[in-house]
Amino acid sequence: MKIDLELLRLGIRDSLEFHFDNQGKDEYLKELGGKYRENLRVDVQVEKPGRFYLAWGQVSTVLELQCSRCLERFSYSINAGFHFNLVESQRQEEFTPDEDVIVFDHDEVEIQPFIEQVVFTEIPFAPVCMVDCKGLCPQCGTNQNLSECHCQQEITDPRWEKLKELKFGKEVK
Ligand SMILES: [Zn+2]
Ligand SMILES: [Zn+2]
Repeated sequence: MKIDLELLRLGIRDSLEFHFDNQGKDEYLKELGGKYRENLRVDVQVEKPGRFYLAWGQVSTVLELQCSRCLERFSYSINAGFHFNLVESQRQEEFTPDEDVIVFDHDEVEIQPFIEQVVFTEIPFAPVCMVDCKGLCPQCGTNQNLSECHCQQEITDPRWEKLKELKFGKEVK
């Protein structure tokens, strides 16, 4: 996923656009138990308003993640905007590093690690397969989205609730 800045550096063009459809590297997602289900689709535009290059764009892809409640695997769509600066290594000291920056030596700059970082930061801390995922029964481990287990029924049995009410009533009197 390389962008070539030569035409901007030479002042031949004011703006460059690049489009990519590349496979993402699963190794970045492995520690989260995730992987790529679709390619990284990236649109990026680059300009050189001053000494440094400014790039911005959009990345979209579909990941496979593991639900933090029921542990099932599910598809998670990513659609994120990004922007970053491109700074030649000999000018690195002139740049205040308060923004995302890629330092480069040659006109061809590999941006894929940065894009994968953008995707990585879009992943929620505790991903869920659906908003109302019921998760696993803490007692028997049954996936409660698929079936109700016996222990769950006992807790919510209305007869038990009645009994609790009776007991409570006695204690108050
Ligand atoms: Zn779930
Ligand atoms: Zn259970």
